[in-house]
Formats: sequence, C-alpha cells, structure tokens
Amino acid sequence: MPKGFTTTILHNDRQNLIEHGSIHKPVHSSVTFGYSDARDLAAVFQNRQSGYRYGRQGNPTVSALEDKITRMEAGVASVCFSSGMAAVGALTQGLLKAGDHVVSSIFLFGNTSNLWQTTSSLGIQVSFVDATQVENVLAALTPATRMVFVETIANPRTQVADLTKIGELCRQRGILFVVDNTMTTPYLFQPKQVGAGLVINSLTKAIAGHGDVLGGCITDTGAYDWHNYPNITANAQKQPEALWGVAQLRSKALRDYGACLSPEAAHQIAIGAETMALRVERQCSNAAALVAMLAAHPNVDKVHYSGLSQHPQHQLATDLFKAHGSIFSFELKQGIDCFEFLNRLTVAISATHLGDNRTLIIPVAHTIFFEMGAERRAAMGISDSLIRVSVGIEDVADLLADFGQALDAY
Ligand code: PLP
Repeated sequence: MPKGFTTTILHNDRQNLIEHGSIHKPVHSSVTFGYSDARDLAAVFQNRQSGYRYGRQGNPTVSALEDKITRMEAGVASVCFSSGMAAVGALTQGLLKAGDHVVSSIFLFGNTSNLWQTTSSLGIQVSFVDATQVENVLAALTPATRMVFVETIANPRTQVADLTKIGELCRQRGILFVVDNTMTTPYLFQPKQVGAGLVINSLTKAIAGHGDVLGGCITDTGAYDWHNYPNITANAQKQPEALWGVAQLRSKALRDYGACLSPEAAHQIAIGAETMALRVERQCSNAAALVAMLAAHPNVDKVHYSGLSQHPQHQLATDLFKAHGSIFSFELKQGIDCFEFLNRLTVAISATHLGDNRTLIIPVAHTIFFEMGAERRAAMGISDSLIRVSVGIEDVADLLADFGQALDAY
C-alpha cells in the first residue's frame, strides 16, 4: 500500500543506505567530485554514466531534496534552483526562444508578472489572459504558443485558474501546461491531476516554512509528451524521453545560468519539508477561522478567499484542493487607514513573504505591487486598499484576538 504524504517524506532519505544509519541525507558541501578512473569522469560528463561532476549541476544533498519534491508531486524528476523566481526564470532560459509565445494568467505574483514582461523584450511574446475562464486561454493560443502558465490560487487576489479545463485544452493541443503550485503546496493539490506537465514550487514558502532559507523547484509530472515540444536540443534527447524536459532545464537553465541551490539550503528545506503537511493543515484551519471573523466584521468591506461560498471559483477550488490554503486578502471599510490598522496588530507581522510559521500581513499596492503601477494593478484586480494575509501556525485564539482588537478600534 502506498504510504501517506508525511510518512513518505520522513522516510525518503532512508530508501538508499546512508552511512552510520543516519536518518537524514548528509550535507555534501563538496563543490567537485573526484574519480579514481579518469574514464569514469569522462563517462559522467558524456552522460554515459550517472554521477556528480560539479556542484552547479548537481549535488547529492540537493538530489535528495529533488527526490522528495518529486514524490510530493507524484512526478518523474525535479530540478532545484536557488529561489522560486530562479525556477520560474528557468522556463525562459531553458525552454523558450525568440519567436515563441506564452499564454499566461494575468493574475500572478508580481515578480513573475515582471519577468514575463522582460521576456517580451527578448522576443518571447506573452499574452496575459483572465485564466479563470478557459475560453480566454483558447482565444489567445497561436501556432507559436509553447506553454500556458498559471498559478493555482493567484497571489494575492486568490483567483483560481480554470485548471481542469485548461489542462484538457493543453492536452488536446499538445501544449505544455505549467502550474505554479506555491499557493496550494503539493500537500493540498498535485497539478498532475489536471494534466500539468511541469509544476513550480517556491520552496522558500510553506515547504521550508521557517522563513530562513530560499529555494525553488521545477518538477516534471510525466504528463507531457516532450515529442510535442519543438525546442528540445539533440543533447537533451540523448536522455530517456520522460527526462527530456528536466535534462534541458538542468543544462540550459541551471548549468548555463548558475542559479543553483546550495547543499546547506537543500538540507534546511528538507528538514522543513518533514513537517509541511502538519503546518499547512494548521495554517489552513487558522486562515478559515480568521476569514470567517473578518467576513462578518462591519469594518471589513471585502474578503477574497476561495473557501468563501461567494468566491467566484469556490466550487472548483473545493473540488480540487484538500483545503483552501493559508493566504487570503481583504479590504477594510472605506475611510480606515490601512497603515494605522496594520500598526495596531501585535501578533501578525507587517512583512512580505508567505507560507511562513508566523502570520504575515502586507498592504499590496504600496509594496510588492507598487512598481508595476496603477493601471496594471487594476487589470489584476488589485485595489489600493488590498491587504494580503499569510496565516501562520500561531494559536488561533491569539490571531482572532489580535485582528479583533485592531478592527474594533474603529
Ligand atoms: N511563485 C509564487 C506564487 C510566489 O508567491 C512567489 C513568492 O512570493 C514565488 C513564486 C517566488 O518565490 P521565491 O521568493 O522563492 O523566489
């Protein structure tokens, strides 16, 4: 019988013998790897033999983490990067070239939105669409479309992409479907089930969880037939077919651009990953309690959370996700100064970042979405008064009391 999520992650390192009976894969800090027969070194370089050559391209501690993320996503292989954004950027460096076209949800984490605009200036055209309706994705497809990119629950306004239908559309057209699973985590949702070929996770968020390390990962779910992808190099095609995408990401993005995860960071993330499911469950139940309180409070105008029955994609999210996640956004009643409100909170911290053990709160338009300007914010459904909350694992009574006293002050 297949083991449960947490059992699998806790015991994954021990699937291969570790010296001294160690229960963790050790931190291999070595940058280079020596061979007593130089022919073996050459065979590793020529991909005729598996093995490590240089830390930028792979490391045993990082591989152990990649293996865990692959198990979490029920995939075939993963590549880790130095941050979630390095993983998103690897799509452009590793899989796209000038003349290609991407259809992306317009509802995106701000830095991903910026990145797609940068790639436009490199000759890779990106069409931004309201991906909550598959029809908009369909209308934007061109013969040059190489991938469709969405977040599961969009950061920060919580729009849920039309995941099942977009997956089906991409399958019919042979287009690569890429899903950023950071907001849901592989514990709440595995994008493979809707046909995503590649899944991105910022490991910095709930997977690491403790706000002390950055990392990112791309997992190949095995759902995409790489024969349909025209940009696969002859070199990547020397690998087994299921690994073409990962092989190309590893060489064209990780090796050539160098945003590799350090073994120390991989170890820290792996320790965090052991308790991810427990933390996410607590965060989700805390979030649901806070959302219920805010939604009923007279000083709150709107709450955006897919767990609310009035959320436009509530049913889809309920059908697909184990829970509605730990991130929500809200708007205060007109006339209440959001900075003054935030300063009244004593448990929640005014800070960026999400998926952390601690509850973090941020006025979005004034900070993480400030640079992109009012027009683009409006297109993404982000009002000037929008506040994002990433709910932590504190005792729920303390969170309710903290938000309650701040709201009751008006
Ligand atoms: N994707 C999403 C949905 C995010 O929210 C973030 C960061 O907030 C990232 C990617 C980038 O991750 P990182 O901060 O690890 O670069």
